Amino acid sequence: DPRIMRIASSMRVISDFPKPGFKFKDISTLLLDPKAFKDTVDLFVQRYAGMDIAVVAGVEARGFIFGTPIALAIGAKFVPLRKPRKLPGEVISEKYILEYGTDCLEMHIEAVEPGERALVVDDLVATGGTLGAAINLLERAGAEVVECACVIELPHLKGRQKLNGKPLYVLVESD
Ligand code: 5GP
Repeated sequence: DPRIMRIASSMRVISDFPKPGFKFKDISTLLLDPKAFKDTVDLFVQRYAGMDIAVVAGVEARGFIFGTPIALAIGAKFVPLRKPRKLPGEVISEKYILEYGTDCLEMHIEAVEPGERALVVDDLVATGGTLGAAINLLERAGAEVVECACVIELPHLKGRQKLNGKPLYVLVESD
């Protein structure tokens, strides 16, 4: 698919960000190419339209960029999954393990109703810890997680193994 080629080549790699030795996949350059950005959203919308998805849950912050247009296009509500102490209402929290230390995601408890079909969206899956926490939040609220969707996967980090058996759909793989 030439759209996937354009999406892949619109992203760049920044060495030693955020720490020495890291190779950061930067999606901000994808957003500078309106065709690549639109194709990215369209590919997800094509996949999820008509699947009776009630909730698109986007992971702060880059999951918001892709999650909101998908939610609007498929007629689902958008639920932000945020870093601690950002959401003002009653939240549930889910800690997860990072390479060094732990992190946490929070969701407004009343945002999701039991039985709702949910899609989790983020820009990139690495170790899978973030998506795993997102899945747990939605399931604790009674939602049925249908799939996770990311623009990029780093397959060598085996993030799929942390998704509790939920399917993961990605557009681009990277090393
Ligand atoms: P994981 O929990 O799968 O190890 O890490 C994925 C999370 O970290 C995602 O929320 C993603 O935005 C962020 N992340 C980690 N590495 C990168 C990277 O190289 N590029 C981008 N854009 N995000 C990253």
